[in-house]
Amino acid sequence: MNDQNCIFCKIANGEIPSATVYEDEEFRVILDMGPASRGHALILPKSHFKDITEADMETAGKLFPLASKIGQGMKKGLGAAGFNVVQNNGTCAGQTVFHLHVHVIPRYEGGPEIVAWKPGKSDPDELAKTAALIHAAVTEN
Ligand code: AMP
Ligand code: ZN
Repeated sequence: MNDQNCIFCKIANGEIPSATVYEDEEFRVILDMGPASRGHALILPKSHFKDITEADMETAGKLFPLASKIGQGMKKGLGAAGFNVVQNNGTCAGQTVFHLHVHVIPRYEGGPEIVAWKPGKSDPDELAKTAALIHAAVTEN
């Protein structure tokens, strides 16, 4: 299913041209127009899901293998030393386009410094309590 008002639906299905890295029946992988590094790519399912919570298991299950394939292509084709796989869900998580997409961001020796967070502090009790809250939520029913 596609959403007529969704720009990534139009790009994924070829209605709007893009710098396409890879395409198959279910996905198009394009270059991000605001790249964090050279070759920053976005994996777009051709069907519309607002984020990972809406995706069916079959689609979701193909995203990581495809990210690995694209990342390996960045290492081989662009000389990247590594890559980050990033996927934002929700405005407060930094999502700006509400069509599921996975960022594959090549990393090069010497920078740029990107996709990092400042490690916080934790204590074992607090970690255990937090883990229990999430565990209860994911295992209820
Ligand atoms: P996110 O913040 O995870 O929703 O990521 C959206 C990404 O899409 C950003 O990195 C944008 O630079 C990128 N973007 C938005 N519109 C386009 C477009 N038309 N073509 C390519 N990349 C886009
Ligand atoms: Zn869409």
